[in-house]
Amino acid sequence: MFVDSHCHLSFPELHDRIDRIRADMAAAQVDRALCICTTLEEFPRVHALATGHDNFWCSVGVHPDNEGVAEPTLADLVERAALPRVVAIGETGLDYFRLNGRSLEQMAWQRERFRVHIRAALATGLPLVVHTRNASDDTLAILREEGQGRARGVFHCFTETAAVAEAALELGFHISFSGILTFRNAEDLREVARQVPLDRCLIETDSPYLAPAPYRGKTNSPAYVPHVAAQLAALKGASVAEVAWATSANFERLFGIPHPPTTESENENLA
Ligand SMILES: [Zn+2]
Ligand SMILES: [Zn+2]
Repeated sequence: MFVDSHCHLSFPELHDRIDRIRADMAAAQVDRALCICTTLEEFPRVHALATGHDNFWCSVGVHPDNEGVAEPTLADLVERAALPRVVAIGETGLDYFRLNGRSLEQMAWQRERFRVHIRAALATGLPLVVHTRNASDDTLAILREEGQGRARGVFHCFTETAAVAEAALELGFHISFSGILTFRNAEDLREVARQVPLDRCLIETDSPYLAPAPYRGKTNSPAYVPHVAAQLAALKGASVAEVAWATSANFERLFGIPHPPTTESENENLA
């Protein structure tokens, strides 16, 4: 059984056909998913997914790319994090990819927003879902400074260097790999994945974006996460079942999610 540790099922292209997506997940043995929040405005819909389905959980946070949306205060995040089935703070972090002509100095608002999320993670004890793009130095520096050695979580949709992975692992973070791992031009990332210990790896789709090969360019879905697992297994010289088991166990440990009741087929495997 596979877990999609990061997807955006509240986005219209997925939300409008959620029953179909859940059926596809079941057929692909993807038994659980973490629904990621990107604005406070969106939170009620994300949260309803988690409370309405016993195999979905959710996060609360405001994505660094989102401008012109409600700016979250510490209280906004802490209050929502206390609701049932909210298991993470994020996605949050820094993204200097779309500066739109601004200097890094002018992106101070993004760094402040990230700090508010880290404070919320410390206040609630929940892990952070970190998004970083073209900003790894600042992301790591702020995590070190604001996190006081206590913040934990995951660097999601990892596309950074081995040095950044090492620094994230040293901070106690997990590394999550997406469909990018299957892209033909991602040899550098595959080399990073070979080096990250399996007990610190997660897998995700980041649906509706970044569909893995052979679906690249199409709308992504949690049902495709086994393709990420298969790629990771090939890199680790492990079986897909081992990667599925390890990434599910990591997911449960990091987000405090209970192991599902043993199914009949698992019992057969044990017998
Ligand atoms: Zn992201
Ligand atoms: Zn995302």
